[in-house]
Amino acid sequence: MDRQQEFVLRTIEERDVRFVRLWFTDVVGSLKSVALAPAEVEGAFEEGLGFDGSSIEGLSRIFESDMLAQPDPSTFQILPWRSEIEPTSRMFCDIQNPDGTPSSADPRYVLKRQLKIAGDMGFTCYTHPEIEFYLLRSDEIGQNGMPVPVDYGGYFDHVPGGVAQDFRRTAVNMLEAVGISVEFSHHEGGPGQNEIDLRYADALQTADNIMTFRTVIKEVALMQGSYATFMPKPFKEHPGSGMHTHFSLFEGDSNAFFEAGREFQLSKTARHFIAGILKHAPEFTAITNQFVNSYKRLWGGGEAPSHLSWGHNNRSALVRIPLYKPHKGQSARIEYRGIDSAANPYLAFACLLGAGLKGIEEEYELMPIAEDDIWSLSTAERRASGHKPLPGSLHDAIRAMEDSELVADILGEQVFQSFLRNKQDEWDEYRHDVSPFELNRYLGIL
Ligand code: GLN
Ligand code: MG
Ligand code: MG
Ligand code: MG
Repeated sequence: MDRQQEFVLRTIEERDVRFVRLWFTDVVGSLKSVALAPAEVEGAFEEGLGFDGSSIEGLSRIFESDMLAQPDPSTFQILPWRSEIEPTSRMFCDIQNPDGTPSSADPRYVLKRQLKIAGDMGFTCYTHPEIEFYLLRSDEIGQNGMPVPVDYGGYFDHVPGGVAQDFRRTAVNMLEAVGISVEFSHHEGGPGQNEIDLRYADALQTADNIMTFRTVIKEVALMQGSYATFMPKPFKEHPGSGMHTHFSLFEGDSNAFFEAGREFQLSKTARHFIAGILKHAPEFTAITNQFVNSYKRLWGGGEAPSHLSWGHNNRSALVRIPLYKPHKGQSARIEYRGIDSAANPYLAFACLLGAGLKGIEEEYELMPIAEDDIWSLSTAERRASGHKPLPGSLHDAIRAMEDSELVADILGEQVFQSFLRNKQDEWDEYRHDVSPFELNRYLGIL
C-alpha cells in the first residue's frame, strides 16, 4: 500500500464516505462507473476490481473478457452532488489485463503512452480546453421538431434573470469543489449555448477533468430542471459546440513553443508541431469528430474550421495562434479548433500530440499563414495555397483514418480496429435511414 492509497483509505473513513465510484472511459468516450462499498477499496487497490470487459465498447473480445479496473489514488475526489446525506467519491481507473499488465484497449493508457513518448523527447504537454454546450429545456424534441433552448441570448450576452447565469455560477462552484479550476465562462453564440474554459493542466489531468466536467454539467442541469448536451450540432441554423483546445510543450520550466523576437514569439519547435498537426489532421478527424453529426458542425459555418490552415487572428483557421500577452510571460501556445465537445478526450489528445511530435521529429515545413478568411477564397485559391479540406463526412473520415500508419501507431492496433468498426457500424446505420429531409423533399414530387 503506498502513501496515496493510505491517504484515500483514511479520508474515506474520516469523511464517512459511503460509496466509492470507480470511473473509466470506453473507446467512444462514454464514462463507465461502478460503485464500491468502502470496505472493498483496499482490495481494489491490491488486486484491481474484476469486470466483464466484453460488455464495454472496444475493450475486449468475448473469449478473453476478464479485465481489471485499477483505481488511481491521485484522482480521488469527494463528489459534491448528492453528498450531503451519503458522501460519495470517485477515482479514475487504469484498465489492466488479468496478469496486471496495462490493457492496450484503455483510452487512458493510449494517452499515457503518448505522454511517455513526449517525455522521452524531453517534453511535458499542457492543454487548456474551451468547452461549448447547449442548455435545453429537456432532452425531448419541441413541437417544431427542434430541441428547445433555455434562452435566446447570444455571444457574451448577459441574460437578466436567465437560467444560464445561475447555471454557470452553480456549475463553476461545483467544478471548483472537485478540484477543476475554471478560467472563463460565458454565453456562446447560439440560444442556450454556453462555454466554460478550464485552466491549463497536464494533458492526462485535462482529459480526466473533461470527463468529470461532462458529468458535473449534466448533473447541475438536471438539478436546475434543464438538460445539457454536448452534441456537436443540435441546431441546423445555430453554431455547433466545439472544444477548442490549446496546446503547449514545456522543457522543464521553459515553454518550448516560445522564442522571443520570432514571428508570434513561436519557436521552430512550435512551427514543426503545427505542421505535424496540419499534415495529419484528415487522418485523425474521425477521432476528434467522431459522430455523423460532427460533420454538420464542421461544414455548417458558425466559426467552425473546415480546411487545413493556420492563422493568427483568423477564426476560420484550423490552428490559431492566440494573441501574445507579454505580461503572461511564456504563454506561447497553439489552439486546435477542429475538435468537438463530444470527442473522447484521451484519444483526441493522443492523436494531436502524436501528430505534433511527428512534425517535430521529421522537421516538417509549415505552410504559409492564412491571412484571409478561408471561406472568402475560391476553391482554386484554396487549393493553390494548400488549404485542403477536412473530411466532409464520417465516411470520408473513416476512409482517411484507415490508411493512416501514424494513427494506427498512436492508438495501437486494438483501439484502432475497434474504433473503426464502431464508426463503420454507425455510418452504415445512418446510410440506411430515410430521413425527414428526404421525405419532405421527394415524396410530394416524385
Ligand atoms: N462554436 C464554434 C465552433 O464550433 C466556436 C465559436 C467560438 O468560440 N468563437 O467551433
Ligand atoms: Mg473561447
Ligand atoms: Mg467559443
Ligand atoms: Mg477558442
